[in-house]
Amino acid sequence: MKNILDFSLDELKSWMKDNNEKEFRAKQIEDFIYKSLWNFDEMHVLPMITRNKLNENFYIGIPKIVHSYESKLDGTKKFLLALEDGNLIECVLMKYNYGNSICVSTQVGCRMGCKFCASTVEGMIRNLTPGEILSQILVVQDYIKDRISNVVLMGSGEPLDNYENVLKFLELVSSEYGLNIGLRHITLSTCGIIPKMKDLADRRLQLTLAVSLHAASEDKRKEIMPIANKYSIADIIEACKYYIDVTGKRITFEYALIKSFNDSMEDARMLANLLKGLLCHVNLIPINQVRENDFEKSQENTVKKFVEILKRNGIEATVRREMGADINAACGQLRRSYMNAQI
Ligand code: SAH
Repeated sequence: MKNILDFSLDELKSWMKDNNEKEFRAKQIEDFIYKSLWNFDEMHVLPMITRNKLNENFYIGIPKIVHSYESKLDGTKKFLLALEDGNLIECVLMKYNYGNSICVSTQVGCRMGCKFCASTVEGMIRNLTPGEILSQILVVQDYIKDRISNVVLMGSGEPLDNYENVLKFLELVSSEYGLNIGLRHITLSTCGIIPKMKDLADRRLQLTLAVSLHAASEDKRKEIMPIANKYSIADIIEACKYYIDVTGKRITFEYALIKSFNDSMEDARMLANLLKGLLCHVNLIPINQVRENDFEKSQENTVKKFVEILKRNGIEATVRREMGADINAACGQLRRSYMNAQI
């Protein structure tokens, strides 16, 4: 059985043709699916024989909402979803004045091992398929009865560690016949897998690349991000320059502020030096405290000073508004706390 959500329209057309069905049926089926009709038997315009054939070969891989949580602070919604094989993933919906933005997962778990992150505690279970990444948007859109306009690949998983599937997802999500979310409205966040960043640059896609830096010195980065042992900060910056040159797009650097670790004025100056002259924006994230470790959030006035130093040095920086703080909205936290509760 195949998940029909993994198929592009063209692929479904070929399948129909190869199976003695009319090609135009593919579009009808896709239309139904994108209008939240998730049962082949209810697609009444299709001949019975076609519906039977679909049932024999495909399932519509819409995850089950196991739990949904709504923040009382800002309306952020978090969803714990069960996939076809029972694996759990999570995604977060945030309402902004420009529309609904969803943060989706790209893997079950993660193998990057960042010390502050809850997604990585038990390693990577498996990659999500393109359709499984897409299905998070479909199920949430149906739940809120409203359109989602922006997508960030910042949930559990490292998108560039599941590169082929993520590329196919980008094709599916932006195609006109489907959700039609333009790549300009999509942000992909990576811990810095350099060869894939370069490959992505060469594709000249219109998406925004975000790079999780979190430290301006090699030693500190290695302390919290194992990937730093493989790729140096200098090489990441070089890859970013390449990305900017080729695409003309501004890069976002994510920097999680951890109390007394990477939030000193000296750290800020080092970061400013590192990024000087780059077409970039720094997104400072007061770290979300998770159960699995004891990193603490920087103090508010420290954050303020940090931003000031960056700005004084000509680096654009904003502090990420904390959303859904009351519902474990940080990466991987929900799945972890749910699983812990079951044990
Ligand atoms: N693997 C990708 C994308 C997923 S994580 C990446 O590393 O970029 C999305 C962002 O959330 C990353 O910047 C990640 O470092 C950050 N993050 C993870 N756990 C966090 C926490 N507890 N507090 C703040 N940010 C966190």
